[in-house]
Amino acid sequence: MTFAELRDFLASTMRMSHIYQPLLIKSLIESGGISTIRQLAANFLASDESQILYYEKRLKEMPIKVLSKHGIIARDGELVSLKVRKMTLEQKAEIKKLCEQKIQEFIVSRGLSTWDYRLLDDTAVSDVLRYQVLKEAKGRCALCGITIDDKPLDIDHIIPKAKGGKTVYENLQVLCSTCNRTKRDTDDTDFRKIIAEDYKEDCIFCKKSRGGKILHENDYAFATLDGYPVSEGHTLIIPKRHFSDYFDITQKEHIAVHDIIRIRRKELLRSDSSIEGFNTGANSGEVAGQTIWHCHIHLIPRRKGDTLNPRGGVRGVIPHRMNY
Ligand SMILES: [Zn+2]
Ligand SMILES: [Zn+2]
Ligand SMILES: [Zn+2]
Repeated sequence: MTFAELRDFLASTMRMSHIYQPLLIKSLIESGGISTIRQLAANFLASDESQILYYEKRLKEMPIKVLSKHGIIARDGELVSLKVRKMTLEQKAEIKKLCEQKIQEFIVSRGLSTWDYRLLDDTAVSDVLRYQVLKEAKGRCALCGITIDDKPLDIDHIIPKAKGGKTVYENLQVLCSTCNRTKRDTDDTDFRKIIAEDYKEDCIFCKKSRGGKILHENDYAFATLDGYPVSEGHTLIIPKRHFSDYFDITQKEHIAVHDIIRIRRKELLRSDSSIEGFNTGANSGEVAGQTIWHCHIHLIPRRKGDTLNPRGGVRGVIPHRMNY
């Protein structure tokens, strides 16, 4: 590549979605045309204003305060100085060595949590986790079903990180780029108003949605343990909006309920190896056995031997028809 080609690329060909590309080229120029990825990352960090602001704040809140109190350093506005002014080279080396030793000891005892790994979170889905999630999804988008051959697939947090969703196996799913974008762009403000307006004071599930023991939740649904469990871990997944009939569920709620069912299922399977299957379903209408008039879906873990003859499963709602 010639100088002119590089200049043309920068001036007209380059399409930027962030400052990364010119920053990388600039860093390479500054380091004589070649650099390690680690050094490049350090240069990126030095240009990341949000990180600099973050450490300015940390510095003021913590070590500057403490060390000033002990008379070790002095702060004058934006300037910070060590109070011991005169030291020999040997003395400086000794202090530096002591500092490094203290840092090492601390990192050994605390592990990597010494540093704030928050910012890594975006990509912190480890390769192992990514593989697990993709494998489970059989290479398909969880929303539209498109395969990895047709579209790039992302690992998505089912409950978004911004809403407290964790980067753990249970909370991860595979989405195609289109579904991921749609999910992100959805504005849920109106729906929250509907949920608030439909709230019923005397409904135990409406009450639970605001102050009960909630296992998992997203904008439209939540999970809680059944008060009269059919088996250990029996969970109810409940839309937040008050309505009685399962068939009045909206698509948004359906997706939300399904998301929570999947999270809870994975959680149960992980925490209890005796679980080998599930029954899931809803009772719609009094003749079908519904007793609480706020729609809910049962997720019932099943274990070998929990009933004499499990054959037929949900067919058992009409007991003499269960065995066929
Ligand atoms: Zn999709
Ligand atoms: Zn209700
Ligand atoms: Zn029920």
